[in-house]
Amino acid sequence: MSLRFATIASSSSGNCVYVGTENTNILIDAGLSGKKVEEGLSSLGLTGNDIDGIFVTHEHSDHVKGIGVLSRRYNIPIFATEGTWGNMPSSIGQIRPNLMKDIYAEEYCAFNDLTIKPFEIPHDAAQPVGYTVGVNNTKITIATDIGHISDTVLENVKGSSLVLLEANHDVEMLQYGGYPQSLKSRILSDFGHLSNVNAGRLLDTVIDSSVKYVFLGHLSKENNTPRLAYDTVSKILTDNGAVIGGDFNMWVAPPEGVKRKIELV
Ligand SMILES: [Zn+2]
Ligand SMILES: [Zn+2]
Repeated sequence: MSLRFATIASSSSGNCVYVGTENTNILIDAGLSGKKVEEGLSSLGLTGNDIDGIFVTHEHSDHVKGIGVLSRRYNIPIFATEGTWGNMPSSIGQIRPNLMKDIYAEEYCAFNDLTIKPFEIPHDAAQPVGYTVGVNNTKITIATDIGHISDTVLENVKGSSLVLLEANHDVEMLQYGGYPQSLKSRILSDFGHLSNVNAGRLLDTVIDSSVKYVFLGHLSKENNTPRLAYDTVSKILTDNGAVIGGDFNMWVAPPEGVKRKIELV
């Protein structure tokens, strides 16, 4: 059984991740238009009819924009925490009650051949979660929208074969950039977003021989560049002895479109 992974979109403007096996296909978030999600699926050889469930991290529109339209069009069940359900933006439209499913942080959920575990993340949403998705002893972790490095996030990233981790901003670009002060403070707070330096520190703390692939994602378009995110994180890791390209591979996930498909065996 192999575990497959691809990002369909990853940035402050929209997030959607594909994870699957030979038998099961899920999305983590669908924060872009239904059409763009369909285009991403088509480059993976899939359609909306192949998607067995959408697992939502939290109610911000860059994570849920397309869930309503996809659920209605393809009868896809949507999984979210109670707090996320209670705070969904009305713009997603109606979701049929039988397709609204609850998930619980820290509780493993057996979903066909996948084992899915939502875990708490520190972010300014009602009840946000990251996810680990596993088959046998192999797991993928999706951890974006993280205000600070929490013990829970560290524990869940540890032992992953593949990690999609937020590297949202460069602190100086944010501080000297054009965002209003209130927004800057929100992003920099303990419940905002993870900086490049903190992404590097987090990885440095947990990276071990199990990690084969690292994707840096959810980059801010205004306060980061792919090169800066990559260079900042890789410097922290290589200064501490990691060999990128040897021990593991690392890339920046593109803001939109499927560029790389990973298959973990
Ligand atoms: Zn968010
Ligand atoms: Zn977000």
